[in-house]
Amino acid sequence: MDHTKSRQAFDAAKKSIPGGVNSPVRAFRAVGSEPVFIASAKDQFVEDVDGNRYLDFICTWGPAILGHANPEVLDAVRRRMEKGISFGMPTEIETRLAEKMHSMLPYVEKVRFVSSGTEATMTAIRLARGYTGKEKIIKFNGCYHGHHDSLLVKAGSGGATLGVPDSPGVTPGTTKSTVICEYNNADEVRDALEGGNVAAVIVEPVAGNMGVIKPGDGFLQALRELTERHEALLIFDEVMTGFRIHRQGAYGLYGVTPDLATFGKVIGGGMPVGAVGGSAAVMDWLAPVGPVYQAGTLSGNPAAMECGLKTLEIYERENVPDHIQAVSGHLANGLADICSRHNTVSFSVQGGMFTVFFTGTAPSNFPEVAACDMERFRCFFQYMLEKGILLPPSQYEANFISFKHTKQDIDHYLNALETFLSAN
Ligand SMILES: *Cc1c(COP(=O)(O)O)cnc(C)c1O
Repeated sequence: MDHTKSRQAFDAAKKSIPGGVNSPVRAFRAVGSEPVFIASAKDQFVEDVDGNRYLDFICTWGPAILGHANPEVLDAVRRRMEKGISFGMPTEIETRLAEKMHSMLPYVEKVRFVSSGTEATMTAIRLARGYTGKEKIIKFNGCYHGHHDSLLVKAGSGGATLGVPDSPGVTPGTTKSTVICEYNNADEVRDALEGGNVAAVIVEPVAGNMGVIKPGDGFLQALRELTERHEALLIFDEVMTGFRIHRQGAYGLYGVTPDLATFGKVIGGGMPVGAVGGSAAVMDWLAPVGPVYQAGTLSGNPAAMECGLKTLEIYERENVPDHIQAVSGHLANGLADICSRHNTVSFSVQGGMFTVFFTGTAPSNFPEVAACDMERFRCFFQYMLEKGILLPPSQYEANFISFKHTKQDIDHYLNALETFLSAN
């Protein structure tokens, strides 16, 4: 496979953009190579600037739930943009997306739109502190909630991949109110809550930023009971899992209702959209009704709202979750078969997210992921790339399945995995 033009594009990018990328994982450092530059994408495929075509398991890191460049979404966005791209004034389409979310997730009585997942969790944390009048936040080792200061500790994929567990520039003062517990360990959460002054527990209800790790039996229920007992808010960070692991996210899958939830990725359909939602009683603490300040020039941008709304409409109309469930069930069966014959690998599949781990037993927390054979993952990634299969370039990331991925695509992936494991 020829990567000449990608190499040239990367050299040019590095002269004017730090590391040549606008989000670190894209630089392919964890897999010891250089990134491919993308020219275009359609359905389940992306094409790079050298004309190589790949079966895509990155899917924009989640948003491309319908596959790339859905014609109906493109049409809707084009029509919307012809009326003006942005006004900085209220538009009706914001209400329509909020109503759509409420119709799918009854506990999201009110929602505030922002422009990224990072902004959504930042807002949720401020809101939780304002509402409870308490200070501390409990988060989990390996869970990522965006790159704002107070949550950039033990934050999974990005930092772990680069070997920078905590970023310079984040002051101890900012993170001293952030308490870290191990994922799937409710006892640690109970102890931390008993320490007092906890405003909220924030969790990826299915973790995706240390590879896919499911909550153990009763873990989310325990978080619900413990937070209620200690009058702290429970925040589900569903930026990755929302409208992906289940039509109703973790709320639908596990029957646990959080006080607040954060969204992003799928709800923008590829446009920059984030959201925080929850009960009206909590949400109305946000300005201008309440005292907790939050704002955004481009928040609720009409083109972005249209993209998200059309994506969710198609998602419902075409029963996208059922399709993804069928394809991911096929994948899970195939992976179970492969892992039964190769005891150095394990896997985790949840709805449209999955990770193959280069360790014999599927990890249940971050230290267990860190024990994976990263060198072997690197070889695997390169092997798949040359076979025309684009994987997220880190063991610590989730792979994504879209509406356009077929069982044949999955067989192609499984065959390549099997061949790699037999030869390496
Ligand atoms: C991606 C992600 C974020 C951050 O969203 P951005 O849009 O990249 O700022 C936050 N939380 C989770 C769980 C995510 O997967």
